[in-house]
Amino acid sequence: MINENGDVILSVSDLHAEVDGTEILKGVNLQVKAGEIHAVMGLNGSGKSTLSKILAGHPEYQVTHGEVIFQGQPLLELEAHERSLAGIFLAFQYPLEIPGVSNLDFLRVAYNAHRKAKGLDEIDVFDFDDLVAEKLDMVKMGASFLDRSVNEGFSGGEKKRNEILQMALLEPKLAILDETDSGLDIDALKTVAQGVNLLATADNAIVLITHYQRLLNYITPDYVHVMADGQIIKTGPQELAQELEDRGYDWILADAKVEAAVS
Ligand code: ADP
Ligand code: MG
Repeated sequence: MINENGDVILSVSDLHAEVDGTEILKGVNLQVKAGEIHAVMGLNGSGKSTLSKILAGHPEYQVTHGEVIFQGQPLLELEAHERSLAGIFLAFQYPLEIPGVSNLDFLRVAYNAHRKAKGLDEIDVFDFDDLVAEKLDMVKMGASFLDRSVNEGFSGGEKKRNEILQMALLEPKLAILDETDSGLDIDALKTVAQGVNLLATADNAIVLITHYQRLLNYITPDYVHVMADGQIIKTGPQELAQELEDRGYDWILADAKVEAAVS
């Protein structure tokens, strides 16, 4: 839902970033308000995952210029865990496996850390079991997933549903989902999309990074952004995603070059 008067949750201004001395983001501008869903599309290598990792506080990337304001506060000076506690959630394109740590313990520790940051008491083991059971239904995961090590031996679809389970528990203010649709069969795709739709509220915002339009058949974005070579080169309505599906990316890249040459 486009929110003309809504609170700005995220404001990214002229963000430049590099890894090992190579510039990858070359001036990203993005504003996300409460209640909105934004899709970020673009060819492989355009910088989508880099943007998401920088927002989440990945230490590998150096921001060289620009500013990110999250809920009125400068974001870039916070550590990754502080950003999580502040309400940013990133579902990774390639979720990490954590052998030896049970999924249930991992979720409970993360959940309680978030409660503590909000000044709330830790929830006990039994209450947490009830809470997690409720959320498991949402992502159609069986309880057996809770006893296994985090993501270890999970199929691609199971890992992605596990990311949505984390999101459902942590109820972030801003969720960034990096290609959560990739590698999913149609049933898993629908489950993930349903989960996201249930979690989207008027108070939070979602940035969906996706390579394919098909996810957007199930989740309706308010804006579609196209990223190329480290910049957002075009922003349009929902229909832009279908246009990209039909026509590919070449025309947009050509238009952007013409506009850059004229301006
Ligand atoms: P996308 O998610 O849009 O496919 P990425 O953000 O993953 O794009 O990558 C953008 C560019 O940055 C690519 O050329 C990629 O090779 C490069 N890149 C990203 N992360 C690293 C890294 N850790 N080391 C070196 N190059 C990287
Ligand atoms: Mg990527």
